[in-house]
Amino acid sequence: MAELVTTIGELRRRLDAERAAGRSVAFVPTMGALHAGHLALVERARELADVVVVSIFVNPLQFGPSEDLDRYPRTLDNDLAVLAADDVVFAPSAIEMYPDGESQTRVVAGPVGALFEGTTRPGHFDGMLTVVTKLFGIVQPRVAVFGQKDAQQVFLVGRMIADLNLPLQLDVVPTVRERGGLALSSRNSFLNAEEKRAALVLSSSLDAAAASADQGADAARAAARAVLAAEPLAELDYAELVDPATFLPVVDQHRGAATAIIAARIGGTRLIDNREVTVS
Ligand code: AMP
Repeated sequence: MAELVTTIGELRRRLDAERAAGRSVAFVPTMGALHAGHLALVERARELADVVVVSIFVNPLQFGPSEDLDRYPRTLDNDLAVLAADDVVFAPSAIEMYPDGESQTRVVAGPVGALFEGTTRPGHFDGMLTVVTKLFGIVQPRVAVFGQKDAQQVFLVGRMIADLNLPLQLDVVPTVRERGGLALSSRNSFLNAEEKRAALVLSSSLDAAAASADQGADAARAAARAVLAAEPLAELDYAELVDPATFLPVVDQHRGAATAIIAARIGGTRLIDNREVTVS
């Protein structure tokens, strides 16, 4: 059972004492409903520093008005139970994080924030980067651990750390999947059995992109979209190949590494996934 801290003041005092004793801090930001994907991040964090802080905060700023903020799963007791006794969980209330209502100062993601997830979820990445910046300021970690599962998020957090010279390292953990290939996600709990089977189409579309990437980027994109289109329960949002250095779509002549990204709605649940491919 992890230690629970709910106020910024208490966490600061707790971590200042750790740092004064020469212990380093690693940070894993989450929205809770912890699963094995989150736990892989925590394990990595334990390798990287002496003290691991896991934040659990469903940030209202990064949800649009018609999104799933209210029904997002909240399982704090279980989350505390699956972490170790020396992990520190920081689970503030919305009022603790935003005492004056909304934060007036915001971090703006830049052009990539308007693409892909940003098209369907306007303002999402500004809200995410704003709370991540607040959390970095509160926790002051030496290293923060994020999942490759949210590839655009990782890209934008990396850009922000570089652009704003934030004094911490970013560490990225590969996506943890179920045996059939479905990427673990807190939102998978919304899927019924039939939808869960249909959700496998995200990872199989990405695999199809990887298998066709020796015929160029256009063929890879087309292969992903064809596999997705064959699943009646899935509604495609986007399937793209992006350059890992810029997160912009690659041209057909692109050669080398690319990230295949996909988003689709399965029933009422929107899911995302990605994988590395080699275009040749
Ligand atoms: P979330 O709670 O969904 O905001 O995710 C918190 C962190 O866990 C983010 O850095 C995610 O990328 C990461 N994460 C979520 N699902 C997975 C997964 N299946 N494998 C690895 N990391 C994940």
